[in-house]
Amino acid sequence: MMSSLPRSTVKMLLNILAACIATNIQAGAQTMFIPGQTYFGANNYIEYTAGNVPIIITAPHGGDMSPSEIPTRNCPQCVTTADAATQELVRTMGGSFQRIFGCSPHIIINRLHRRKLDANREIVEAAQGNPQAERAWNEFHLFIDSAKQAVIRSFGRGLYLDMHGHGHSIQRLELGYLLRDNELNLPDDTLNTVRYVGFSSIRSLVGTNTQGMRHAQLLRGDGALGTLLGQRGYPSVPSKQDPFPRIGDDYFDGGYNTARHSSYRGGTIDGLQIECNFVGVRDSPAAIRRFADSLAVAVQEFLRLHYAFPLPNACLATSVVENYTNTSSVDKELTIFPQPSANEIHLRIPPEWETGFVVSVFDMLGNVVVHRVQEFSNFSQDYILATDALPSGVYAVRLQQRFRQAGAQYIGSKTLRAMMIIAH
Ligand SMILES: [Zn+2]
Repeated sequence: MMSSLPRSTVKMLLNILAACIATNIQAGAQTMFIPGQTYFGANNYIEYTAGNVPIIITAPHGGDMSPSEIPTRNCPQCVTTADAATQELVRTMGGSFQRIFGCSPHIIINRLHRRKLDANREIVEAAQGNPQAERAWNEFHLFIDSAKQAVIRSFGRGLYLDMHGHGHSIQRLELGYLLRDNELNLPDDTLNTVRYVGFSSIRSLVGTNTQGMRHAQLLRGDGALGTLLGQRGYPSVPSKQDPFPRIGDDYFDGGYNTARHSSYRGGTIDGLQIECNFVGVRDSPAAIRRFADSLAVAVQEFLRLHYAFPLPNACLATSVVENYTNTSSVDKELTIFPQPSANEIHLRIPPEWETGFVVSVFDMLGNVVVHRVQEFSNFSQDYILATDALPSGVYAVRLQQRFRQAGAQYIGSKTLRAMMIIAH
């Protein structure tokens, strides 16, 4: 006897299949997802901006579209209140991360109001059986899956941030790693056991991190994301400053997206839910901008402290920390052409530099976005620098001669500077 699937399950599978076919048309041409460019699902309900850093950001509850073709969600447990200003926050974060990293994060936004689709629930509660809502739900997750695949291909591992806004009275960021408030109240030694690491959305990072930190340290020690945010003026729980929510405090520990897309379910993309308080974070465009910048800096520091990425990549070169303020002087001995350039640019190096040099490129904030060491140069050709990963803008280029040998002695090296304009 064959058992038949319930009708709702069949319908769900058919919807997933339809969405997979639709997405495979795009996924089949992976190069269509060009970093920095934006793609839309059906009716523009879901928006994906492709990236080239190992960071994925989502806004499931910040939508404001209320099309009449999708009825208002209606179930006893259905929450229909949107997370105010989180769409604006995530868009602003895109700009902040690009400035800080020199490259783009992956961003997926649900533009439908939560009345129509809850993009942080399983499909039944999320879409209430409406085909258009179900399609948007599938697109939302398929775009995240595409972003995860791109991150894995380029970097091997990465970090996923699911952005929300809470209305709780304590004004602090609630970082959700899928550990409940009573679990975060446990001693470090208990949180470090296999059992609790198994519940965590940063499971992969606990298994492999550059300083061999244990689970509790990564949640609330020096160098935890909450601690770094607290140091920048954004109180966070858990963190070194505020290690766990008191029993009875309102606290969100992470939802469907965090469970589905983080290393909790395996893989090498760690994740967390960031529930943002309103005051000083989302209550004005200036507050949003300042918070987005601070979060980008904190995430960059978090990656630099804990993640070793297997491949060198121009988009992570900013983790080479260097303060460089003198970006203004220009040396005539160094010719850079053509200007502006898109994908590659020529550096004409003085012939006496055949012993090699170090080329560094800085963005206007002084971040190192390219750092290369060239051994012995062949001066029959210019040095060609690939610039396809750099966003359009003005950059400072610095060349440091490695050394010059006179007899058996190395003598002082020289530095040249010039400006470079990239326009894609
Ligand atoms: Zn939310």
